[in-house]
Parts: sequence; C-alpha cells; structure tokens
Amino acid sequence: MEEAKQLFKKLKIHTLLDLALIIPASYNDTTLSTTLELGKVNTLEAKVIDTNIFSGKLRVTFQLLQSGRRLSSTFFRVTPYHHKLFEVGSNHVIQGKLEEYKGYLQMSQPKSIKQIGKITPKYKTLLKESEIASLIECYVTERNLFNEGLDSKEVATLMHIHFPKSMEEVYENGAFKPDFVKVLKFVEAFNHLKKLRGKRADFPALRALHGDIKPFVENLPFTLTDEQQEVITQIQQDLARKDKAAKRMVVGDVGSGKTMVILASVMMALPYKSILMAPTSLLALQLYEEACKHLPKEVKVALVMQGKDEGDYREADFIIGTHALLYKEDLPQASLVMVDEQHRFGTKQRQSLEALVSGEDKHLKCSTSEVLNAESYKKPHFIQFSATPIPRTQAMMESELLDVSLITTTPFQREVLTQTISKPDFPNLLGHIKEEIAQKHQVLIIYPLVEESTEVPYQSLEESRGFWESKFDNVYVTHGKDKQKEEVLLEFREKGDILLATTVVEVGISLPRLTLIVIVGAERLGLATLHQLRGRVGRNGLKSWCYLYSNSHANERLTRFTQTTNGFDIAKLDLKFRDSGDILDGTIQSGQKFKWLDMGEDEKVIVKAKNRFGSMG
Ligand code: ADP
Ligand code: MG
Repeated sequence: MEEAKQLFKKLKIHTLLDLALIIPASYNDTTLSTTLELGKVNTLEAKVIDTNIFSGKLRVTFQLLQSGRRLSSTFFRVTPYHHKLFEVGSNHVIQGKLEEYKGYLQMSQPKSIKQIGKITPKYKTLLKESEIASLIECYVTERNLFNEGLDSKEVATLMHIHFPKSMEEVYENGAFKPDFVKVLKFVEAFNHLKKLRGKRADFPALRALHGDIKPFVENLPFTLTDEQQEVITQIQQDLARKDKAAKRMVVGDVGSGKTMVILASVMMALPYKSILMAPTSLLALQLYEEACKHLPKEVKVALVMQGKDEGDYREADFIIGTHALLYKEDLPQASLVMVDEQHRFGTKQRQSLEALVSGEDKHLKCSTSEVLNAESYKKPHFIQFSATPIPRTQAMMESELLDVSLITTTPFQREVLTQTISKPDFPNLLGHIKEEIAQKHQVLIIYPLVEESTEVPYQSLEESRGFWESKFDNVYVTHGKDKQKEEVLLEFREKGDILLATTVVEVGISLPRLTLIVIVGAERLGLATLHQLRGRVGRNGLKSWCYLYSNSHANERLTRFTQTTNGFDIAKLDLKFRDSGDILDGTIQSGQKFKWLDMGEDEKVIVKAKNRFGSMG
C-alpha cells in the first residue's frame, strides 16, 4: 500500500480515474495467427528443422505446424542461449514480422513465446511495465470504476482497454474504436470536473444583502442590455444568501459594460459596505469617476491609492482602490468585495486579494484547508470581473470552482476594421496615420521589444523612435518597465498624436480619441493579446482601424482574427490554433491539457459530464 502511494505520487495520480486513464500505448498480442499475414506481426507454432551459422549469424529453419511451410529466421547477435533454445527438433511459438522473399517465408529475429493467447497492454510511463501493470490490475476493477460514478458502458470500455480479450474488441484500423474514444473523452472530462468540485470550498456569508437597485438603474442614461440584466439577477441571487458567500467571476469583453454590473452590486449591498480593487491607479480613478457619476448622490464613495485618497474611506459605502487598500490597517469590513480586471493581477497579487476576503478576522491569513471550523467562518461575498474571454467549454469547467457569468455582447457595435499589412503597405499606412491625426484622432503603435535584439526580426521601440519623432509632432513613448508610464499615458491622452509602446500598454485606461493601432510583429502574439490591444481603439464608437504588421505571409491565424471582433469567438479560435507554435508572448494559459477531450469541439461531452453529477445527487 505504502509502496503504491509512492508510485502514484511519482506519476501524479490523484484519483482512481487518473490511474484508469493511463491508457496503453500499444498491445502485445500472443494469440496464434489463424492465417499467414505478410508484412504483419504473426504468432506461429513452428518446429526447428535445421540450424547453421552464416558469417557470424545464426540461421534457423522452421517448419510451420499449421501450413507445413518452411520459414527461415536470422539472428544477428547470437549467444549460446540462442543455440540452446533453437535446437533442432525443438517446438516453439514464434512471433515476429512475416515477410516473403522469392517465395520463401522469412521472419527476422522472432521471439519465442512462452504463453500463447495473451494480450499484454504496453504502458508508457515513468514506471517499469510490470509495476504499472500491477497497479492497474489491482485498482482498476469494475467495482472501483462503478464507485467512481461511471455507467456500465463506460466501465466495460475501460475494462476492455486495460484487459482486452481480443484486439478486435478495442482496435479498429490500428486505433481505438470511435466509441471507445468517446468514452475516454467523457471519463477525462468527468474526472477533471470531479477534482475541481472537490477543491471548491464554500463559507457562510457575513450577511444576506437585499439592497434595491432601482434608484440606480432608473437614473442611467441608457437601458441595461439583456446580458447585463441577467448577470445582475444572478448576483442578486448570490448576495441574497447567507448560508453561502458568493464566489463569482463575471467575464465580459472590453466595453461590454461590466462597470454597470459593479455599480448595481454596490446598490444591492446597501446599507452595508462594498470594496472594489483595481489593478492600476488610472483604472481606480476611472471607476471612481463613473461611480460618482452614476450612483445616487447619497451613496458615499471613496478612493484609496498610494499617496492620495479621495473621500473618507472609513465612512464610505463604496471604497474603490488599488492594492494600497491592503495596507490600510483601519479598512472597514465590507460585506461585498469586488475585483475589477482580475486578469491583470499577477499570481502573487491574486493571493493578496484573498486577504481582502479573509472575513471576520482580517489578520488571520490562513488558507482554506487550515480552517477547521468552517461553519463559523464567515466571509464577504466575492465577485471578480475579467475581460479575458474564455471559451464556453472552459467556463463550464471552471464553474465547478466558482460560479461564472459570461457577457458575450457589447452595448453598441464597435467598428474596428482589421487588416494584415506588410512592408509594401507602409507608405499607405503613413498616409492613413496623417489623416487620423488631422482629424484630432490618436494613433498607437505597438513594438515587440524595447531595445534591439537579433532574435526578433522587427525594429524595436528605441530603433524606430527617431523615425516617428522626425516625421510627427507629439510623439509619446512608454513601455512596461517605464516608471513614468502612467504619467506618460495621462499626458498622451490630453496632448498626444502618436504613442509608441510595447504590449504592456494593455492598461485599463480608456483613450477615447484612439482610432488607429498598428501591431508590429503581430504573428508573434497570442490572439488574446491581439484582442486586448485591438480593444484599445474605437471605444467611443469612432470608426477605427487595427493593422497587423507582419513579415510572414498568409498567416491563417491572423486572417481569422481579422474576421471577428467577438472575444468569445476569438477565445475559441485561440483553442484551435493553440498548438500552432508561433506564439511567443506566453499569454496562452497552458491550462489543463487533455489527451482525448478537445475543448474546442467537445462541449456536448462536458455537458454530459456535468449532468452526471446531477444524477448522482
Ligand atoms: P467594461 O468594463 O466591460 O470594459 P465599461 O463598463 O467601461 O466596459 O463600459 C463601456 C462603455 O459602455 C461605457 O462608456 C459605458 O458607459 C457604456 N455602457 C455600459 N452599459 C451600457 C448600456 N447598457 N448601453 C449603452 N452604453 C453602455
Ligand atoms: Mg471595466
């Protein structure tokens, strides 16, 4: 037992289904062949009728029992063992690839099989074959599989795969039968969902929240979209619960109107307090301005940033801030905690977000597993907002860990014409840039690197800077490591014509006059990043352009990107092109890699796996 545990650890096996999903890479079949099949592995009964040594090699002539035909075999590395084994007159079951040469049957270096009629799965793992085989034999049993919640067809399939009685049972044209693959997809999805479900920890809420959103909604200069409405209703249902603190992620494209959902949630929390954390001070400021503009006047809003506060956060109903919030000793307890642009926080920062929701005792920073007396450990409702669209299949998976809402439409259609361009198009591009600037519009040019590098076949920010500055006025430059980034962006927003930057400019600041973006070396970037960058232009409904500048011709991924602006479609495309290999920016989340399940195609399988839980109660 202890030994098995160690082996499981080595193979990263955490569940029985993890083990059952270690699928044989091939099989060794010692069933006697009924006919001679040339070019294939045959297993034949044979008697040695002659042996001789031929330039260091051993040649054995067999007579086949079934057909009476002769077959000759050559052994290259000969040991005394071979001589003894293949004594004239001895009987064998030989296995090897059967060939015919000028009418003579041949089999090079056949094995002499001890046990016939046996199919042995070949597992490719870190372990010795005998080790893994015995683990599987011991644990992968019908009974154990049924206990995992599989149905009889799924159990039978896995049993056939691990313990086949014949090859026809499992293989068709040298691969697993389609029906078997279907089952493997299901088991993979089901196993993954089960693990996620096991990880979800829920806590009681500090209190149920029932605030009225009407005074806010009725005052808006527009009507909420159906999807905004729907998400707001979901959040109302979450917050109305006292037995379980909300844990929800709202995912919606840039410009899908998530701020309105945030403000509606603040209304629901009243008369209790809400906190909203944003990744940058610019974004925090923008949210503060929107809150002051749209929330009823009696709602007290405060802003907390490093070095400067606005309003008294101790008194406020709604506190907006950057992670300066985490350092306020006297931050009041909020009943609702929200995080905007969650995708922009680093892993470390995400952990510190946990501190915001650490409940009754803020200083008791313990992980969920350490909370022994979970019953009495109340937490605020927690809602996160992200602008990284994820495929519906992934949302379905993740909703086992936390509830997920998707906003897939935007309140007004943005017009961004996307085009791939290359060197010959440069004069036209310059012309277009001049036109936009003449109309008091702004232009953003994204470079792959700050400084020159031999590894990237494009100019860097510093190399190109001189060119733009000599041809245009009001050129601003910033990049990720630039300490003055926020100041540069703020000044550019007011006075700039052209901004040169690296991809890090995907800050949440809105530049309403931005109508043209050029992305240099676009083929190097993931679709998610391209989508974020393109989301910078045309935010106020101005007609806009996104030029993907690339040296490489006819990139299908980029072409498909130019054809859609919907982030959820792009997330799906991203899955399709995930393995295309030209993505260097690491924006593609490595995520869960499935062997059988295809996140792009197998939505139905995931639905089925999720429904299985329902029927298990
Ligand atoms: P997100 O945070 O999802 O990127 P915002 O909340 O900033 O998007 O909204 C983008 C723009 O759309 C804002 O100017 C906002 O006022 C506007 N907006 C939001 N909801 C609606 C709506 N239902 N109808 C019209 N405009 C809306
Ligand atoms: Mg937003």
